[in-house]
Amino acid sequence: MTAGQERPRAELGVIGGSGLYALLDEVTEVRVDTPYGPPSDALFLGEVAGRRVAFLPRHGRGHGLPPHRINYRANLWALHSLGVRQVLGPCAVGGLRAEYGPGTLLVPDQFVDRTSGRVQTYYDGQPLPDGSVPGVVHVPMADPYCPAGRQTVLEAARGAAWEPVDGGTLVVIEGPRFSTRAESRWFTANGWSAVGMTGHPEAVLARELGLCYASLALVTDHDAGVGSGDGVTHTEVLEVFAGNVDRLRTVLFKALEALPAVRECPCPHALDGLTTGLPGVPGD
Ligand SMILES: [Zn+2]
Repeated sequence: MTAGQERPRAELGVIGGSGLYALLDEVTEVRVDTPYGPPSDALFLGEVAGRRVAFLPRHGRGHGLPPHRINYRANLWALHSLGVRQVLGPCAVGGLRAEYGPGTLLVPDQFVDRTSGRVQTYYDGQPLPDGSVPGVVHVPMADPYCPAGRQTVLEAARGAAWEPVDGGTLVVIEGPRFSTRAESRWFTANGWSAVGMTGHPEAVLARELGLCYASLALVTDHDAGVGSGDGVTHTEVLEVFAGNVDRLRTVLFKALEALPAVRECPCPHALDGLTTGLPGVPGD
């Protein structure tokens, strides 16, 4: 942005692939700097049913960023700095139950973190470039997803005749490799529903900024060890995702249109009574 220009604003955010906003009439590309470095890409601002939405390609244009190299802090910060307060995070996952085959849409209500080495907090005591120092803050995470966002997504899916799986546990692995059979069997034995690589720390960082976050997990494959087959391949994931991107976009747009204009969920209160030390957090 040039100095003096007013930065375009958005109220809703989507972190997902470029196929999701490809059909919008008018999209403005906005580059955002953050105290944590650059986000995965420029943000693409457009309008969906009268709502101002910022789309951020999670893996960058051309899918150049693997899950473990995504700057999750910069991504959420960039959305927040544009005014976004509700975020939807579509992602590809492997099904951990035989009945969750390719094309299943799962709206998780829990996650399990099996990542390693990812920066997963804004509150690490390290001063920011502007000299502000984040406070010691522990946000509640018992229910990691926005209840209003989840309900909105579930209703949008049903409205699009795509019966979703309401709830379930998304186990997030470090990647970029897929699971071994033993890992996959262990996840299943624990009762977990699906496995992905990006759901954490996205949900956590959103909560740390007082944002709403809900996930739309599209099953692209059965994880290794579930049912028969030889486990998942990258080609398989891409093919199934491409085959479902149209209806995923339909559900996403319906959900964006229906997200509550006034937040009455607990998410904005995650930081009540806490001194964040972060510029503009919390803030509306
Ligand atoms: Zn919320």
